[in-house]
Amino acid sequence: MSSMTTKKVTCPKCGAESEIKVYKTVNPTTDPAYREQLLNGELLKFTCDKCGGVAQLRYPLLYNDMKNNFMVYYIPEIDRETLTDEVLEREYGDLEGITRRLVPGYNELKEKIHIFEANLDDKVIEVVKAALKDVVEKRTGEEVTGGYFSKYSVAEDRIGFTFFVGDEGEQFVQTTRLEIYNKSAAVAAAEPADPADRQFFLIDRTWARSALYKYKKSKAAM
Ligand SMILES: [Zn+2]
Repeated sequence: MSSMTTKKVTCPKCGAESEIKVYKTVNPTTDPAYREQLLNGELLKFTCDKCGGVAQLRYPLLYNDMKNNFMVYYIPEIDRETLTDEVLEREYGDLEGITRRLVPGYNELKEKIHIFEANLDDKVIEVVKAALKDVVEKRTGEEVTGGYFSKYSVAEDRIGFTFFVGDEGEQFVQTTRLEIYNKSAAVAAAEPADPADRQFFLIDRTWARSALYKYKKSKAAM
């Protein structure tokens, strides 16, 4: 089941206070409509009654997909003071067979949902993304500032990402064959899922960089 509460927020545009619904947990199995609203941005959208101003809400939200056996906890940086690793481990540390991830932003939350719903390994996805980021930087001669998993098709034999390139953050789609995903599993295996052995942790660009580095080093030593 999903759960929610209410909270007072101050409009960032006009300063008026309003009371809003805050979702603590979203369970897509029992509430598929919430899943839709989360992915299309409606669930975390704030519209001020007074001025009509719109903003994106940022608060901790646990996405608990029981059918696909994964949990993604979206915890904005500011809330990490209260939702510490200790708290998370105490609450969710001993669940069997559930993939658990922590994300610092809404875009990362959406990406994880897409990855796990496609039954893919986010560690391997991050490795492929890191490798393709380099390809895009070579091709465009510009810096890639971010990117997300955006395509997966067995029929077309493609896996792909949308990257943000240069100062303007222009979108650049780069795809590759599924074989690259399969080959990257060995690279992902070079890095422990979480060195501190926590159950909720980040799998991101920094993690993938470390996996790639360790894998290359182990190859060079052979
Ligand atoms: Zn307002």
